[in-house]
Amino acid sequence: MKKDNNSSKILGLHHVTALSSDAQKNVDFYAGILGMRMVKKTVNFDAPDVYHLYYGDYLGSPGTLMTFFPYRGLERGRKGTGQLTVTSFSIPEGSIDYWLKRLDKFGVSRSNHSKRFDEEFIYLEDDDGLGIELIVCSDDEREGFTRGNIPPEYAIRGFYGITLCEQHFERTEGFITGLLDHKPVQEENGRRRYSPNGKPGALVDVVADGSGTGRQGSGSVHHVAFATHDDASQLEIREKLIEMRVHVTPVIDRQYFHSIYFREPGGVLFEVATLPPGMDIDEDAARLGESLKLAPWHESKREQIEKNLEPVSLDIDKFRD
Ligand code: ZN
Repeated sequence: MKKDNNSSKILGLHHVTALSSDAQKNVDFYAGILGMRMVKKTVNFDAPDVYHLYYGDYLGSPGTLMTFFPYRGLERGRKGTGQLTVTSFSIPEGSIDYWLKRLDKFGVSRSNHSKRFDEEFIYLEDDDGLGIELIVCSDDEREGFTRGNIPPEYAIRGFYGITLCEQHFERTEGFITGLLDHKPVQEENGRRRYSPNGKPGALVDVVADGSGTGRQGSGSVHHVAFATHDDASQLEIREKLIEMRVHVTPVIDRQYFHSIYFREPGGVLFEVATLPPGMDIDEDAARLGESLKLAPWHESKREQIEKNLEPVSLDIDKFRD
């Protein structure tokens, strides 16, 4: 992501992190069926007996990163208010029939394609019921990643946006516009869209549909991270949050980026993460995701950590058209 001309300290989405119940099925779905690159295989820094798997474009660029904590056998969550209920990815114009066929071939539960804000999209769910959309976007200049099992002209470009499900619009709207540089951009049928710059990968939709409170479990999003340029812009955001009496964590070193966490008033856990240092800080760009990477402070426990994790692999031939 390049530095914007406007003064926004928030550049768009950085990553979305969700909970799942089976690491191998997770790899098969995101790297196999959706064709994203597994760019990092590491562990949950706060619970190192669980993987942290990252999928994205070739370099794992901010704005393309979908990540998971796969807790074996984790009970399913329930979608509802106070949650990020749908993560949307950008697909190129002319690719919708390809994706409909591909999803059917692999037995993925999906909707027919529909239209919203004049955009064509498909809603689908992964094995844990996590809500995903593929939205056709004609002006996304980002290069899609393809390992060869998906033709490049159909490949996912990265995030398009997210949907937050809330009890009320007002408090969440006030928070993201007042503190996180978003502006209202569109509204249709009880859905309001916000963005710091209007670009694919930087859109936040809010729906307030009166559904019950969500419960976290497999198939739920754990948190969403917004991207900021660097440590300095992150500190400015942190100061502003403190000024507005929002409870925010200290800056935490996540190895591939630096993070602060806080909750928006509707209950969704937000993070602001820096662009640097990036996913290739501890392995060669060409080998991303191939071996288990541990933070320096976990290296001394590598043997124990590896013993607790079941091996995962990708049999790409299973996922050809
Ligand atoms: Zn995160």
